[in-house]
Amino acid sequence: MRGLSVMLSCVILLSVPAFAGEELVVYSARNEQLIKPLFDAYSAETGTEIKFITDKEGPLLERLKAEGKNTPADMLVTVDAGNLWLAASVGVLAKVNSKTLKANIPAHLRDPDDRWFGLSVRARTIVYSTARVKPADLSTYEALGDSKWKGRLCLRTSKKVYNQSLVAMLIARHEEPKTEKLVKSWVANLATDVFPDDTKVMEAILAGQCDVGIVNTYYFGRLEKKQPGLPLALFWPNQKDRGVHVNVSGAGITAHAPHRAEAVKFLEWLSSEKAQNLFADENLEYPANPKVKPAQSVAAWGKFKQDTINVSKAGGLQAKAVMLMDRAGYK
Ligand code: FE
Repeated sequence: MRGLSVMLSCVILLSVPAFAGEELVVYSARNEQLIKPLFDAYSAETGTEIKFITDKEGPLLERLKAEGKNTPADMLVTVDAGNLWLAASVGVLAKVNSKTLKANIPAHLRDPDDRWFGLSVRARTIVYSTARVKPADLSTYEALGDSKWKGRLCLRTSKKVYNQSLVAMLIARHEEPKTEKLVKSWVANLATDVFPDDTKVMEAILAGQCDVGIVNTYYFGRLEKKQPGLPLALFWPNQKDRGVHVNVSGAGITAHAPHRAEAVKFLEWLSSEKAQNLFADENLEYPANPKVKPAQSVAAWGKFKQDTINVSKAGGLQAKAVMLMDRAGYK
């Protein structure tokens, strides 16, 4: 008996250090406050140490390109399918063939070539003044170009990738000529100059400068947290046709990852039921894994049908979207 227990403890001792010595390096465009709790949870569970640097997506991509084969980074975490698509298209991300990731992440939220995977979902939807607009007045993104919204619409700048992705998806659905007409009709309805961020769009509606706008859901969530009961609400457009435009934040394994096998394990863990709320809830996003429920305050905005066109289209059509918005006078 004694011999057996000695043997067992030896097996345990031998198996632990082999696992605990692992290390991973992550480059993240998502800020520390959002990713650190995930890294800590993974380290506590597996013993793998995670080092990371955070920066804006542009500098991180330049850094990965410059470092090439010598990069210390195993994983890139960033927001917007447009940015993930760009990273993949310049060759800094590697294919990952994982049954776990394919099972956990719906096909429209990941790269068709398996180089990146959405891990949380944000909807870019309509926000309106509950004092001056009835939900019945709203229907689709397209209808925001109707003359009844003349002087009542506020938009964020077209320079932001979120709007470039939104317009790219409209091009995917309507082709360019119809999308250009549509964007022109939005511009014609603008109450004022475009805003630098989504929060300013909502503040303008609150201030009575305009009545409707388009924002990412989590910015609404942040404002709602600060000002409970504020006279704004989200509206889910296009429910009778393609659904609401969604985007992702997500991750990919770098092309020259020094710890590829461990990085794939970590990515699979991020898509799992136990990690998905940690990834999504802090930023008031929706888990990408459909088996996982969103946080209560997010669920309270109601259920909606999302557009299931692959989010990678946002990247492929981004350059066309930028030129189209320019032609349409959307600043
Ligand atoms: Fe954002």
